[in-house]
Amino acid sequence: MFSFTNISQYHYDLENSGLSCIDAVNYYLKKINENKHLNAFTEVYADEAIQQANRLDEERKSKPPLKKLHGVVVAIKDVICYKDHKVTASSKILEGFTSLYNATAVERLLAEDAIIIGSCNCDEFAMGSSNENSVNGNVLNALDNTKVPGGSSGGSAVAVQAGLCMASLGSDTGGSVRQPADFCGIIGLKPSYGRISRHGLIAYASSFDQIGIFGNTITDISLLLEVMSGADEYDSTALQERTIFFPVAPAGNKKYNIAYFKEAIQHPSLDVEIRNSISALIDSLKNEGHTVTEIDFDLLEYVVPAYYVLTTAEASSNLGRYDGTRYGHQTKENISDLTDFYKQTRSEGFGKEVQRRIMLGTFVLSSGYYDAYFSKAQQVRQLLINKTAAIFTEFDALIMPTSPTTAFSFGDNRNDPVAMYLADIFTVFANLTGIPGISLPLFKHSNGMPFGIQVMTRKTDELTLLQVSDWLMKDHKTNQQVSA
Ligand code: GLN
Repeated sequence: MFSFTNISQYHYDLENSGLSCIDAVNYYLKKINENKHLNAFTEVYADEAIQQANRLDEERKSKPPLKKLHGVVVAIKDVICYKDHKVTASSKILEGFTSLYNATAVERLLAEDAIIIGSCNCDEFAMGSSNENSVNGNVLNALDNTKVPGGSSGGSAVAVQAGLCMASLGSDTGGSVRQPADFCGIIGLKPSYGRISRHGLIAYASSFDQIGIFGNTITDISLLLEVMSGADEYDSTALQERTIFFPVAPAGNKKYNIAYFKEAIQHPSLDVEIRNSISALIDSLKNEGHTVTEIDFDLLEYVVPAYYVLTTAEASSNLGRYDGTRYGHQTKENISDLTDFYKQTRSEGFGKEVQRRIMLGTFVLSSGYYDAYFSKAQQVRQLLINKTAAIFTEFDALIMPTSPTTAFSFGDNRNDPVAMYLADIFTVFANLTGIPGISLPLFKHSNGMPFGIQVMTRKTDELTLLQVSDWLMKDHKTNQQVSA
């Protein structure tokens, strides 16, 4: 019977223990079928996955060296283009749209012989924190079906959480990989801005968007990161250097210099048990001889407003292309005036949250308000970038909660968008500043749900991030409750 622990064990078993890729694919297809109620997938590519597995099994007979992702079963978020497959951003406006080309990330996965098993449900255009904004309906948290999986990459997170694939791709504009990872009890990495090309990623807010990775081990995640990273002629913001992230070098006896923000750990929205668990972790790190320093960060209260001004502004521009004239949904109403046709198509095609953000973005960009909102938010972003760069001249890593609470129930924040936005306080910081961040599932709450800790390092320093994460996952995964 097939079971998955990590990619290198899987490759060992393929080469030495008579395991085949088709065993793995059949196993996942069966599990996906048994877990349909979770609504994690928008489409499953069963036939193709079987074909690809059979091809790889055939090729292995001549004992070639295996490519890096040989037979690795991966799911991708429904905002990432996979040639000749539907991509809809879980929105009615892209109903029936088929990708014309592969995202660079997908191209690189396929070049290393990964098997893409399906496309995952998400919040419409990656806007949301609970996966309640999808035209395909809610994704359920596999640990407790009354709870949200987080968002916007909820389907990709649950696909890994419920063991429906080996790893998955999400996108993270303000926390959409780290927060669902936190809610689901798995690892979620948002690399530095530009580390993975955005070519073929449906744009939400282009100066924030980054493809991220869900997985169960740091080594698997570092391998996927290595495969997908690197310069790309189709994305001028992609980082030029190609860095080796795999295998993760052990931290050894290195003593780290770690910071945390006083304003984050003392934040009134932070659940008491989460605060206590992080404090306990800080104490044990200090006992091991690491330096952990509390620092003031008085800009924290500005991160959510700055994020929502800037991302909605970018979104209002990026989503202008969905007008019904070129592709996707087109109103059936008989309208002769072009402006009315656009309005009707967009009113029918976009859900409420996306409409709210387009309007907010148009507002903050409008003359008369531009200086008060958009320019101010840009200034806040620059201050954040400067201050963050200064912090990382002194410290190796920064730790923070990933989310103020564990996974909440469906409907809890649905009618209060501001409350939903404010819960992004700990994740948007990394996107505003472009630094890499990861959520590590170290803890379990007395309410039964998991939660993680977020680790961040300086921009482009994923090596340290993965090293610290590997060490924390090995030595500090408590899954113990710390009482309130
Ligand atoms: N929750 C955040 C938002 O709604 C993050 C979304 C994301 O990272 N795609 O914008």
